[in-house]
Parts: sequence; C-alpha cells; structure tokens
Amino acid sequence: MPQLMRPSFDAELIDRYGGEGPRYTSYPTAVQFSERFRAGDLYAAIAESNRLPIPADLSLYVHVPFCSSPCFYCGCNRVITRSKTAGDEFLATLAKEIDLLAPRFDSDRLVRQLHLGGGTPTFLSLDQIQRLMELLKRHFSFAAEAEIGLEVDPRTVEPAGIRRLHEMGFNRISIGVQDLDPAVQKAVNRVHDTATVSATIGAARAVGFDSISIDLIYGLPLQSTTGFAGTIETMLQLKPDRLSLFNYAHLPHLFKGQQRIASDQLPTPATKLAIFRNTLNRLLDAGYEFIGMDHFALPGDSMVKAKADGSLVRNFQGYSTHGGLDLISFGPSAISQIGDSFAQNHRLLADWRQAIDNGQAATARGLTRTTDDRLRAEIIERVMCTGQLVYRDLERFFQLHFRSYFAEELQRLEPLAEDGLIEWTSEGFRVTAAGLMFLRAIAKVFDGYIKPSAQQQGRFSRIV
Ligand code: SF4
Repeated sequence: MPQLMRPSFDAELIDRYGGEGPRYTSYPTAVQFSERFRAGDLYAAIAESNRLPIPADLSLYVHVPFCSSPCFYCGCNRVITRSKTAGDEFLATLAKEIDLLAPRFDSDRLVRQLHLGGGTPTFLSLDQIQRLMELLKRHFSFAAEAEIGLEVDPRTVEPAGIRRLHEMGFNRISIGVQDLDPAVQKAVNRVHDTATVSATIGAARAVGFDSISIDLIYGLPLQSTTGFAGTIETMLQLKPDRLSLFNYAHLPHLFKGQQRIASDQLPTPATKLAIFRNTLNRLLDAGYEFIGMDHFALPGDSMVKAKADGSLVRNFQGYSTHGGLDLISFGPSAISQIGDSFAQNHRLLADWRQAIDNGQAATARGLTRTTDDRLRAEIIERVMCTGQLVYRDLERFFQLHFRSYFAEELQRLEPLAEDGLIEWTSEGFRVTAAGLMFLRAIAKVFDGYIKPSAQQQGRFSRIV
C-alpha cells in the first residue's frame, strides 16, 4: 500500500499562508472567462479535438440545478423549487442539449467518466435519473470500466433507491453529510438524522458501490470542537473510502442565502482552527491518507494510488484519477473543457433553456488558453497533485529556460522556502510536510492573473 506524506499543522504558518486563494479546479480560473467566447468557439474546439491523431476520450458532467430547500451555507448555482414538473421540463431541454452536442464528437471517443452534480441530482426521481442515463447511453459509447458517479442528498433517497442507482450503472457515490449535530443542521437548514446517513452509506456498501465518498464542512454556525469530534467518530465507524473536509467560506456579499446565517453564531477563528487541527489529526491517526487541500482517502482507494504514482489530476470536480479526457458538460452553469478551451453555460435556467430552444449550445462565456496559460496550468496542477516540480520536464515541452522565464516567481517562492513550505532540489523544488496544507498558496505564486500586490479580498475562499 502506498503511504503518502503526513501534513503537519502549524498555527503560525496558517496565519501567514492560510488566506484566500483559488481552488484551481481549472487554470485560468472561471473568473477569467470572457463573454466573447460563444457557442461557435465551443463547436470549433470540438472539431479541432476530433482532428487530433488520437482524440481524447470523454468525461461527461450533468448539472441538475434543483433543490427542494436551501442550505444556508450554499454557494452553488441552484434553483429552490418543489415543482412537480421541473424535473421533466429540465430533462426535455437536456435531451435537446445532448442532441445538439453529442453528434459533434467522433463516435469512437469513449466515455470514461460521468458525474451528476448540482444542485441535488436526486431531486430527480429514480425514473427520471434512469431516463437521463438512457439518454446519455443512446448518444455516447461508454467504456466498460467507466466511473459513473453522483452526489446524493441523504434526505432524498431511500436505501432501496441506492440499490436502484447501482443497477442503473452508478459505481461511485458522494454523500453530503456536512455535520451530524442537530443544532448545526438546524442553523444551516439541512436536517437529517444520523440513522438516515448510516442507512444510506450502509445501503451503498451492501450493493457494492466501488467508492463511497462523504462531504463534511467545518466553520458552520454553532459548531464546536466536541460537537464536530462526535461527527468524525460516527464517520470513522461508517468508514467511507473518501472524505472531504470543506472549509466554510462565509461570503454573504456573494451568496445571498448565507445572509440567513447569523454571523455571531459562527465559530471563532480559534475554534475553527482547533476543529480543523483535531479533525486532521484524528483522520490521519485513523489511517486516512491526505490527498491534498481538503481530501482524504483510505489507503486502498484509487485516489491514494494515483497520488502515489503521479497520475492524480485536478478538474472541475476537484481531484480526479482520470487525466487527459475532454470534458463535456450539460445543464445551467456547467463548464466544459475541450483541449485548451473552456466553455461555461448560462447560469440562469431560463437563459440556458432559451439558448437551447434557439438551436444553439448554451455557452455564455469561456476562453481558449494561451501557451503561457498552458504552461502555468501544468505547473499549478503538478504543485496541487504531485507536490513537486522538475524544471527540465517543462523546459523540454515548452522550449524555454525555466529559471529565466519564472525568475520573479522563483524569487517570490524564497520566503515560502525560508518558512519550510517547500525545499529546493537540484532539479526544481518539492513541497514539504509543512507545505502540504498550503498547496494553493504555493500554486498561486505561478498564477499569472493574480498580481502579488492585489489581494482580491472576498473573491476566493480561505486556503485553511
Ligand atoms: S448545499 Fe447542495 S442541497 Fe443544499 S442548497 Fe446547495 S446545492 Fe442544494
């Protein structure tokens, strides 16, 4: 079994380097997308990708935008509704969107990954999800071993439904738990009891899902060190393969729903840090490996193997074991990546629907990476995923002298090296145990769009 480096916790370093930073699910980040990039640019990118000697296989994403009630901490693009017809209307437009885009891809390009996210994918009934799967399978060829996953809200699916999802072909499940403390759940308007969560996880394990992943959030109102420790102990008994520990970013000026969270109920920075430290140590002591940022996994999980053998990548779903795929995404706000082009759909359901009803892809914005973007994207991904950089690998590929091209960036890395976040090697640098918590801060040095002088406060979440 591979063993990954154990991150160390240092409150002083968190104070210095734990500030805001992009999550780097893409580079450039979505903030840079331009409205000049439209449907025609997406079509051109797809045509170009088909012309490559060996076109990339595909990853599909479907954004189901509906939720039946708002979680107050939420920063996602979603529509709160209890409409009984919303699901069918959505599927009707989705069918047209798939019809518009799928024929543009060469039919021998296999789907290796599919993910349903949201919103709440399980807002759709099981019959509707089945229709969605049939629709996708009619238009695309799926690889036999494709990873097919979805996000599940435990309030919306009975254990029998979990079995049915597995029968439809889903083999990965990600369950949003956040916190099991009833007072915290009430404060964020997301109430589900522990028995329901246990039953959902138990059902997923019993029917044989390859990977069960749990999402937790720290920094929510009324959270305490003892309360969150209780959530972690219950989770350890349920033993998910993967566990994500997200840092709640309270940005009520950006996300209106968060205005319903009383800021005096938020844990103090010291309590929040103590929750993070205790959770980190508990998960590591219990045998979970640290993948990066907020992700943990059990030693046998494919993500640990990918991290150990250098094949881990970052994409719009976060860390992933599948690199080199073109991503085609459906639904409002969904982002596709075809080669070096990013295309984001209209955010609003009505705009997305209108574009598709007009017979056009719903692209609202995007960009095509320059050579400099590609180079920086490669560096950022290597820092985020492998924690090391060998300059000559990039020099060969991009035909440049690394130390000259990045003279300023290397200078800006010096204080990070002095603080022990990275160490210089004869070939480049590598992230240390102390630096593992700050991958985003290290990667940010190579971000060509964030000037060192401009902090861009309030735009990105905190690193720790
Ligand atoms: S957190 Fe998830 S379930 Fe809750 S409102 Fe946001 S998208 Fe919906």
